[in-house]
Amino acid sequence: MTENNKPTNFIRQIIEDDLASGKHSSIHTRFPPEPNGYLHIGHATSIVLNFGIAEDYDGQCNLRFDDTNPHKEDEEYVEAIKHDVRWLGYEWAGLYFASDYFEQLYNFAVELIEQGKAYVCDLNAEEVREYRGTLTEPGRESPWRERSVEENLDLFKRMRAGEFEDGSRTLRAKIDMASPNMNLRDPALYRIRRGAVHHQTGDEWCIYPMYDFTHPISDALEGITHSLCTLEFEDHRPLYDWVLDNISIGCHPRQIEFARRTLEYTVTSKRKLIQLVEEGHVSGWDDPRMPTLAGLRRRGYTPASIRDFCGRIGITKSEAAAEMGVLEAAIREDLDHSAPRRMAVLDPLRVVITNYPEHEEETLVGPNHPKDESMGTRELKFSRELWIERADFREEANKKYKRLVTGGEVRLRNAYTIICQKVIKDVSGEIKELHCTYDPNTLGKNPEGRKVRGVIHWVSALAAVPGEVRLYDRLFTVPAPDADKDKPFQEFLNPDSLRVVQAMLEPSLEQARPGERFQFEREGYFCRDTGSKELVFNRVVTLRDSWGGG
Ligand code: ATP
Ligand code: MG
Repeated sequence: MTENNKPTNFIRQIIEDDLASGKHSSIHTRFPPEPNGYLHIGHATSIVLNFGIAEDYDGQCNLRFDDTNPHKEDEEYVEAIKHDVRWLGYEWAGLYFASDYFEQLYNFAVELIEQGKAYVCDLNAEEVREYRGTLTEPGRESPWRERSVEENLDLFKRMRAGEFEDGSRTLRAKIDMASPNMNLRDPALYRIRRGAVHHQTGDEWCIYPMYDFTHPISDALEGITHSLCTLEFEDHRPLYDWVLDNISIGCHPRQIEFARRTLEYTVTSKRKLIQLVEEGHVSGWDDPRMPTLAGLRRRGYTPASIRDFCGRIGITKSEAAAEMGVLEAAIREDLDHSAPRRMAVLDPLRVVITNYPEHEEETLVGPNHPKDESMGTRELKFSRELWIERADFREEANKKYKRLVTGGEVRLRNAYTIICQKVIKDVSGEIKELHCTYDPNTLGKNPEGRKVRGVIHWVSALAAVPGEVRLYDRLFTVPAPDADKDKPFQEFLNPDSLRVVQAMLEPSLEQARPGERFQFEREGYFCRDTGSKELVFNRVVTLRDSWGGG
């Protein structure tokens, strides 16, 4: 971060230099998703980069759907992507579809043909591959390379008219079959896809432009100044520039590449995420274990925490998977400030306060936030029977155990201190309930002459509301599930990534709005599920980083 709190990276440096030198007086970026799946955390870094730059340099950022592949794309994805970008806190200057440019793209292709810089090739896919050569061997020129301009124009028109079968012909750029850069060996510009129904253009077209032809022209038509993309396009940059240098278009954006951002213990590829959904390993694109923005949102992540995460991992030229701990630290920091405190007992053990009158109930008050009085207070009910966490009691323990033991004294958060007098077990020896006594003089003050071991949370058995709590763990058991050459990534799915418990919740949680977030004291941050009518809470994150030891 710089002093004015803007992130710095090599791309922002280039932009500042271009503004300083007068090369550009205003900046225009774009985020160009292919609508073939939901956006994931990797896309978030690209969104934050492109929209963040527009925001910080008084520029503009477009949302452009890169929809040149009619087979895998869908309207559902278009709407989901728009929703996710807005949720992250951004608004586009213009909303475009590459398919809006199909007619213009066609005309630019004709222009290339007229200049003798593109030709219709009759080689099939396999032959094209054969002719292309290898990294160490130059390719061979297609026998169709020297067709006349007239013949090429005629064939290209007839390709558009639907006269030829899929795969029988392509339009190719005439560049250099001996180029050391394979992308310049007469790359395809158009292919035939008859019968495909496109979600924007229907059956209007039966030829579709390739990405490498579409992208530079779409950028130029929108007046993009800096076209930011991931590293795999570095070798395509000469083609990006070739296209713009050889057509009559008055704008030449600069393509700049940066390294993909990935996250440990998950996969960030739409293709693999689709598999998780379709094979039923998760409940959907918005399963709270998914690294999609829809999944993170349902899990309880805030837009601010995701933007913060993107800032923390930054933009570089070298690939590295971010640790899950970095993402979790970002949401913890956000929720520590903003989430009201509540008490919930996830694994309830009954406590009977033997010196508290039966059928009586009193109202206590708990602060919503220990460090922020402006967040107010809420009422708590105290009664003779309570629930505490099973893990907060041991029959015997040494001094280091700061919870309840037989004969020991602890404070109940926001309430009194109690001493455990007796342990009641069932026939199998399992602890059924604890008989305790409370000290009525300890509300808001320490007992005289005695030291309590610690503070534990509780809820009144009379007032508590039952609710389902979903405890999530990492979705995969290894940091890089898709790195194994021999095993499919699904084999590394964590069978314990979801644990469901029936919890006892303090009554105010019944009014929680779907999507509302809380800290359950001593347990973690939780968010009321948006996908259930019942009272269900998703654990966003534990209170402390538990990746090391459990
Ligand atoms: P996927 O493999 O998940 O399908 P993609 O690159 O094919 O990824 P696009 O929809 O084409 O997905 O991506 C839209 C934009 O987001 C592109 O500019 C792309 O470079 C960028 N992007 C995609 N994945 C990442 C990532 N992991 N980190 C950073 N940027 C990404
Ligand atoms: Mg893609």
